[in-house]
Amino acid sequence: MSSTITDQIHFFKSHLPHNIQLVAVSKTKPVEAIIEAYQAGQTHFGENKAQELLLKQAQLPPDIKWHFIGHLQTNKVKSILPLVYLIHGIDSIKLLDEVQKQSQKINQKTSVLLQIHIAQEETKFGFDFSELEEVISRQNIYTHVCIRGLMGMASNTPNEHRVRMEFRGLKQLFNQVKPQFQSFDTLSMGMSGDYQIAIEEGSNLIRIGSTIFGTR
Ligand SMILES: *Cc1c(COP(=O)(O)O)cnc(C)c1O
Repeated sequence: MSSTITDQIHFFKSHLPHNIQLVAVSKTKPVEAIIEAYQAGQTHFGENKAQELLLKQAQLPPDIKWHFIGHLQTNKVKSILPLVYLIHGIDSIKLLDEVQKQSQKINQKTSVLLQIHIAQEETKFGFDFSELEEVISRQNIYTHVCIRGLMGMASNTPNEHRVRMEFRGLKQLFNQVKPQFQSFDTLSMGMSGDYQIAIEEGSNLIRIGSTIFGTR
């Protein structure tokens, strides 16, 4: 691939509809790569390991908005809370409860997305519908968590129709439960391989790694 990180950021900035937020997924990439993207105007970055996020955050400009994507272990919640702008990967009630508990301790309201299991693969983390109902029914205990929306990952398959149907299902679920949450405005779906489909199906936040930074 001959285009640079700068080129890619400029491409997304000029081609994405204005209501779509771009999170540049910088996991495994060095701080120099993040700086290049930042200097091209990108401020939202995504990481999926607590330790890596802590190390990078300490070396980079303080106005970067850090998104935690992917699976978060409960014992790592405390360390990342003060630095994180949005946690995408809330995939269990246990984890949500821990975010509530630790956020209360530091008197912070933490923004999160609930990760919904939409792919057919067994291995992907996430809530199913009954767990989502449970969160809705006990929402009043989440005084220090702001549930901003949903996140999902489609199956890793060349079958575009299947990917589209999975995204469509998530968008429908989003619309269905939105009235039950106060600050529901974010639908995080779409990565390098499927973001166009995701946008067509109603995503307003895409998480792009390899297209910007090269293969990992
Ligand atoms: C790695 C990752 C991405 C980015 O994937 P690319 O295919 O490199 O764009 C997006 N979302 C999550 C949850 C990831 O772990």
